Amino acid sequence: MNSEELKDIYRRNKYYSDTFLGYPVAKDFSYSDFAPFLDICINNVGDPENKSTLAIDTKDIELKCISFFAEMLSTNMQDVWGYITNGGTEGNLYALYLARESFPNAMVYYSESTHYSVKKNLHLLNIPNIVIRAQDNGEMDYDDLEQTIALRRDKPAVFFLNIGTTMTEAVDKISEIKRIIKKYAIKDYFIHCDAAFLGTIAPYVTPKPQFDFAEGIDSIAISGHKFIGSPIPCGTVLVKRKHRDRIANSVSYVGTMDTTITGSRNGLTPLFIWDFIQKHGHEGLRLRVEAAQKVAAYTENELKKLGLNAWRNNQALTVVFPKPSKALCTKYQLASEDDIAHIICIPGITTQDIDNFILDLKAEITSITVNAEAVFA
Ligand SMILES: *Cc1c(COP(=O)(O)O)cnc(C)c1O
Repeated sequence: MNSEELKDIYRRNKYYSDTFLGYPVAKDFSYSDFAPFLDICINNVGDPENKSTLAIDTKDIELKCISFFAEMLSTNMQDVWGYITNGGTEGNLYALYLARESFPNAMVYYSESTHYSVKKNLHLLNIPNIVIRAQDNGEMDYDDLEQTIALRRDKPAVFFLNIGTTMTEAVDKISEIKRIIKKYAIKDYFIHCDAAFLGTIAPYVTPKPQFDFAEGIDSIAISGHKFIGSPIPCGTVLVKRKHRDRIANSVSYVGTMDTTITGSRNGLTPLFIWDFIQKHGHEGLRLRVEAAQKVAAYTENELKKLGLNAWRNNQALTVVFPKPSKALCTKYQLASEDDIAHIICIPGITTQDIDNFILDLKAEITSITVNAEAVFA
């Protein structure tokens, strides 16, 4: 590749990285200190707790990351096991795989606000599933869930819950799920939390949403490149150790236990995550959440000042508002669904960035009003 071509690709991506407002991907990181690692192929092949014959790995660091996440999720390494994945999708796939191995004839319930990748995961695993209606804020409709469960009390149930939906950052309530489990005396069940975006946020929100192992969940998937931030997509999955042990007994040895979805695994991403943990820790994460919440509150308020129906789920970093023109959605890379769009106030987005967007939006609204007046004059 010639250097002009490379420069172009860099400039293009840097520009789009600096200007987007619609994706839950932190921008404020720098891992250029890790450049020497780009000359080594680090491969955490197989189970993070088993050394393989390949010695070029960062499994020691990977386990430190998992241990930090376990503590963050109200548990410990005796009770849970986990690994660093390629992102939220892989974590969700892994958890659903374990759920199926636990209850081969289970039914999976998930809301219509669930991330698009889950449908594909269920298809890959060939698990029967039912989509539950969502409320207007994106949260599962518990009445619909209850009516659906009432007809299938004999079946083991896998609850796939959203701890922050993609579009509105809605959180499904574990207390409601537990109420339904109890009411219909469901004996065999598995609770998975898709906390791709909120996993490293929710622990630091007060009051803390119910979503972690203290609530009796079986598994959780979190993205690493979203709130933490990483130049390479990554994530983590944590599961109750007994679920991992169930599959470990049935897989073959390749010098290490084949308990992960892919064999070869990224050895670089655990270094980024651990570097972040070292720099920030729990207190740093708490401050990071508070700072982002402030920008989100500011954004909501500025949009309201324009007379727009802007709203957030409880303390969310995602601000939902009526979809603006296609030109603005493109310029700021705003994701939209039907007639709504959102801005996600992730670390790296400042009130200055919001002000720039508001100026553009204001100009657009004014010109629409002026044109409308011209038509009706
Ligand atoms: C982003 C996201 C995913 C997918 O995670 P990746 O890291 O992109 O694979 C799944 N679920 C939710 C709720 C998400 O926000």
